[in-house]
Amino acid sequence: MKRGRAYIIGAGPGDFELLTLKAKRIIENADCIIYDRLISKDILKLAKKDAELIYLGKGNTEGGLIQDEINQTLVKKCLEGKNVARVKGGDPFVFGRGGEEIEALVENEIEFELIPGITSSISVPAYAGIPVTHRGLARSFHVFTGHTMENGKWHNFENIAKLEGTLVFLMGVKNLDLIVNDLIKYGKSPKTAVAVIEKGATENQRVTVGTLENILKLAEENKINPPAITIIGDVVNLRETFKWFENKNPAKKILVTRDKKQAIEMSQNISKRGGISLELALIEIENLKINMEDLVKYKAILFNSPNGVKAFFENIKDIRKLANIKIGAVGVKTKEVLERYKIVPDFMPNEYLVDKLAEEVVNFTSENENILIVTSDISPCDIEKYNKLYNRNYEKLVAYKTKKLKVDKKELVEKIKDVDIITFLSSSTVEAFYESLDGDFFILGDKKIASIGPMTSETIRRLGMKVAYEAETYTADGLLDIIFR
Ligand code: SAH
Repeated sequence: MKRGRAYIIGAGPGDFELLTLKAKRIIENADCIIYDRLISKDILKLAKKDAELIYLGKGNTEGGLIQDEINQTLVKKCLEGKNVARVKGGDPFVFGRGGEEIEALVENEIEFELIPGITSSISVPAYAGIPVTHRGLARSFHVFTGHTMENGKWHNFENIAKLEGTLVFLMGVKNLDLIVNDLIKYGKSPKTAVAVIEKGATENQRVTVGTLENILKLAEENKINPPAITIIGDVVNLRETFKWFENKNPAKKILVTRDKKQAIEMSQNISKRGGISLELALIEIENLKINMEDLVKYKAILFNSPNGVKAFFENIKDIRKLANIKIGAVGVKTKEVLERYKIVPDFMPNEYLVDKLAEEVVNFTSENENILIVTSDISPCDIEKYNKLYNRNYEKLVAYKTKKLKVDKKELVEKIKDVDIITFLSSSTVEAFYESLDGDFFILGDKKIASIGPMTSETIRRLGMKVAYEAETYTADGLLDIIFR
C-alpha cells in the first residue's frame, strides 16, 4: 500500500488568522489531522468532511509516554496510506518536539514536510504590546523552557542573569518562583520589569505586569494558569504605549448556527467586523439529484435562496437550456450566486420573500405559462395560492434538503455559555435550537437573539423567545449590519 505523507505544521499562537497559507492548504486536504490543545479550534473547521481528527495533547507533561503515542499514531496513520497533518501550537521546532516526530517518521521511511509556524515566544509578547527587541533597550532575546530539567539539571542561571537581552520563558508558570529567585540571586536587578501573558492572542488573553520583586505575589493574586509566557526585561515597559490587542472594544461573541460549510463565510465576516464568532451547526444542507430534461417548458425560473442556485447548477449539464427562460432571484445573495454562474437575473423583488418573487414574475410571463420555483423541502412556497392569484402554472422544485441537527443539550449549553448573540438565518435553525435545548430557555439569560427576517422572527416568537435584532436586508450580511450598528 502506498504510504501517506506527514506534514508537521506550526499553527501559530492562538489567533486562527495567524495560520500560514501553506498550512491552510495542507490542512484542507489532509486525510487525518492530529492536533494539540494550543491550536485555535477554528483550524479544525478547515478539515475535509471525512477527515479523521485526533486530539493528542501533551498538556504540560514532560514528554515520555504521550509523545511516544503521538509518534506512533503519526506513523500508523501514514502507513495506512493517509496524508497526515500534525498540527501544533506555535512552531514545531520551538519546544514543539517536532524533531522527535521526524525521527520516528524517518525510521519508518515516511516522507514528510515541515511547515514552520509563528512561535508564541515572539507573537504572544507582540499581542501584549511588548516587542522582544527594541532600539536602545534590547539587542537580543533569549528563549528558554521553564519546564524541562535536562537530567535533573536546571539552567545555568548564573549565566542567564548576566544576559543583557530580553528573557522569554515558555512553560514557566509552575517554576516561576525558581526563575525569579535565581535571576535575583545571580544579580539581575529586582526592579527588572516582568510580564506574564496567559492565553495570548486569544479572546481570553490576560497580562500581568510587575517586576522581579513583586511578580510572584501578583501571579498568586491573579491565579495565573498555563499556557503562559513570561517575558523579562525593559521592553516590558513599552507595553504601556504599545498595548493594542486589549484596547479593541470588547468583542461581541456571536454564535453562527448555519450549515457547517456556509458558516465559514459568515464567521469570517464577523471577524472582519471585529466580533468573535463561534459556530454550532444546527442544520445540514443536502443537495438533491434533479432531472433537467424538461426545463424548456418553463417561461421563468425563480430562485428562492443561494443554496437553491448551487444545488440547481450542480445538476445542470448544458447552460444553454436556460437561454430563453426569465430568471428571478429572491435577494442580493441569491443574485450574487447566480452571477457567479454567469446568469444575470431579470428581476429581484424589493422584499426578499418567495411570495414577492411569485408576484413579480407575472410581469415577465403570460397567463397559463409554466413557472418553476427552485427551493428547499421546507421553504414556505404555496404554489396553489400563486396559481389561483396569478393565473399561471407554478411548480415547485425541491433542489436541496435542510436537515435539522439535534445537538446534545450539554454540548449546546457549554457552547453558548459565553455567547452574547445567537444568530438564526432560518426557521429550521430556530426549531433545531429549540429541540436541542428541550425548550429550556432560562439558559439563555441575557443573550440576545438575532433573526434574518420576519419569517424567522415569527418562528422565534412562536417558540417563546424574544427577537433582539432583525435584519433590514434579509441576508447574513444584512443581519451583521444591524448587530454591529
Ligand atoms: N511550539 C510552541 C511552544 C510549545 S511549548 C511555540 O512555538 O509557541 C508550550 C508553551 O508555549 C506554553 O507552556 C506557553 O509557555 C507557550 N504558549 C503557546 N501558546 C501560547 C499562548 N497562546 N499564550 C501563552 N503562551 C503560549
